[in-house]
Amino acid sequence: MRVLITGITGFAGSHMAEMLLKHPGVEIFGIYRRRSRLDNLSDLRDKLFMIEPGVADKETIQSAFAPGKINIIDCDLLDPFSVQKLIGSVRPDRIFHLAAQSHVPTSWNSPAATLQDNIMGQLNIFEAVRQAGIDPLIQIAGSSEEYGMVYPDEVPMRESNPLRPLSPYAVSKVAQEMLAYQYHQSYGIKSIVSRGFNHSGPRRGENFVDSSFARQVALIEKGKQEPVISVGDLTSKRDFTDVRDMVRAYWLLLDKCEPGDVYNIGSGNTRPMQEVLDMLLGMSRVKVDVKVDPTRLRPSDVMILWADSSKFMEATGWQPTIPYEQTLRDLLDYWRERV
Ligand code: NDP
Repeated sequence: MRVLITGITGFAGSHMAEMLLKHPGVEIFGIYRRRSRLDNLSDLRDKLFMIEPGVADKETIQSAFAPGKINIIDCDLLDPFSVQKLIGSVRPDRIFHLAAQSHVPTSWNSPAATLQDNIMGQLNIFEAVRQAGIDPLIQIAGSSEEYGMVYPDEVPMRESNPLRPLSPYAVSKVAQEMLAYQYHQSYGIKSIVSRGFNHSGPRRGENFVDSSFARQVALIEKGKQEPVISVGDLTSKRDFTDVRDMVRAYWLLLDKCEPGDVYNIGSGNTRPMQEVLDMLLGMSRVKVDVKVDPTRLRPSDVMILWADSSKFMEATGWQPTIPYEQTLRDLLDYWRERV
């Protein structure tokens, strides 16, 4: 089976590639951009096989491709021509569409770029699939952020909850989901949307809040930062799953769930960000003070994310296996090795 991962240089994409290396019979392809940092793939360096930029016709890709490797090809999803060339040549059986402008705070500063990247990138994939005349299963990475404004009697969140997005990022994810629905209805494109709740672990981008805390603790331990951590609002609650459990869930989503449908994926445990910080401070080897930084506060924040994933669990048998304490410890150790 041939699998294409968009966003392979990102957090979830790199873990997806790592997991698929253990699946016999899976041929792995991924896309990167010329300016992409390949840090998240550095542990897999000896498995990487870069197909030369510009080499994207079907025959050359067939002969250039290396079995047992992660084959990566230069492609910007915003360029419809490159995407058509890529999809038409690779002809994947499964696509994990993980590429996105994925950071909520960035979406406040760059709303147009966020909408453009997330919506047009996906549109280009769908159109390329149609053009190539192939029929792959496609995972679309939706987000719990789509729920946005939630009232106290609406948790834990089910797929039937209203979507009241509170950031440009969340709007882009609702649009991705609507596009998936429309292309499924209109053209039979076999996409399945995961509404993923927060996931974390090693390689989590340093601008995400839990990773920012962990990185600051690691810097302080090494004496590279004053022993003070800057934080934003710590009252909001999030439902965290380990990224390694999440990518396993994405695989099961395509194995067992219904094209055209939407599934929540989350642990079902919600906790205030204050608790996340306290857990990390408890793991710290040094004493750390905490300071509120008003620049880290958002124009409107989602106060609670709490998953009801029973629909997904019943369809697939999936259960998270890695406790959050372990996820945070692995994230902190990741930063200890890097700062
Ligand atoms: P990251 O930000 O770590 O990775 C995003 C990836 O997308 C990068 O590889 C980036 O490439 C790539 N990308 C962005 N735009 C383009 C483009 N135009 N063309 C090609 N590649 C592009 O995100 P995550 O791994 O954390 O998230 C994966 C998906 O899951 C995203 O859709 C995200 O919105 C969604 N999600 C994530 C959650 C989480 O908690 N992590 C929760 C719910 C949903 P480059 O390296 O070049 O920048």
